[in-house]
Amino acid sequence: MNAYIITRDNLRTWIDALIRDYTLVAPVREEEKVSLFKPVGSFTEIDLNYTNSTISPKGWLFPQTEEMFFFFTSDNQVNLEDACKPGTTILFGLRPCDVKGIIALDPVFNGTYQDCYYQMRRQNTILVCLCCTRVERHCFCNSMGGGPTNGEGADLLLTEMENGYGIEVLTSRGEELVNKYHQLFAVDGDNRVSKTRDEMGKKLASQFSRKVDISGIKEFLDQHFELPYWNELAQRCLGCGICTFICPTCHCFDIFDQSPDGESGVRSRCWDSCMFSHFTRMAGGHNPRPTKKERIRNRFLHKLKYHRDRYNLDGCVGCGRCINKCPVNIDIRQIIADLQEVARYDQLPLS
Ligand code: SF4
Ligand code: SF4
Repeated sequence: MNAYIITRDNLRTWIDALIRDYTLVAPVREEEKVSLFKPVGSFTEIDLNYTNSTISPKGWLFPQTEEMFFFFTSDNQVNLEDACKPGTTILFGLRPCDVKGIIALDPVFNGTYQDCYYQMRRQNTILVCLCCTRVERHCFCNSMGGGPTNGEGADLLLTEMENGYGIEVLTSRGEELVNKYHQLFAVDGDNRVSKTRDEMGKKLASQFSRKVDISGIKEFLDQHFELPYWNELAQRCLGCGICTFICPTCHCFDIFDQSPDGESGVRSRCWDSCMFSHFTRMAGGHNPRPTKKERIRNRFLHKLKYHRDRYNLDGCVGCGRCINKCPVNIDIRQIIADLQEVARYDQLPLS
């Protein structure tokens, strides 16, 4: 793996060159407490000192509202025209948990179901990951197989160093992004970048406020669909859906048509949430998840079991956003700990 070092001045020049040559989507602080990813027009707009963005960057591959295609009728025929024509985009400065979130989304849209809209964006997107330099109160990526300096899945991995940034090349697409502006980079001949990253990883490992043990949880849930525990949780849940909208791995959506004249229009999709009662309501009125109990159970089974069943990946990357934003403090780390407790109790021999 090739590694390079770039000074802070050259980083600025590099980013401004990337903005000129590509669409660069990077973390931006919109208000004092809200950070999110959006296209930027200059280096000065970017906030590389953020911890974790309020809203996950998944929307750049799976937009909150997305036009899929236009339709119009002529000569008694329905004609379709693609709405999505993405150019090459660089998602710059993603934290490792959000890269892992994208890796968890990939098989959903590029597996049994081939989703051309997601794939078009994904194939045209280069992921530049930025190692964390501190750990937030709600972070638990290290319990979910990730870590604050683990850039697996990215094309380039950046590590902040004393006088600049280290850049490790993880894919050929990443290499191209360096080679194109090679005069800005110095080759890291003595592995300073990986040593700095390792030291940062060790330092941050001790900063997590909570570590959870997910071993055996999926296997326990395989055997225990009905648990009184879900009723208790449902009594607290408001069904607001915030947890699903900010989650980097949630991917429910709804599809709708808009056609003011009945002859032409657009088909779009927008995020939906399994926490909403109408999400599974059928045309005849039947709802297989009629109460909050079934809905909250579905959300956590998706995170801890279904995603692993389907794709052999966890449906949670430990970003902590849902813990941070849930208005009634429902905490997936506590749910994992509670399920461990229930599982232990379940395995006690009956006396
Ligand atoms: S954010 Fe909390 S209250 Fe709202 S739906 Fe999710 S778990 Fe329920
Ligand atoms: S379930 Fe919560 S902690 Fe896990 S990835 Fe989604 S938002 Fe992050």
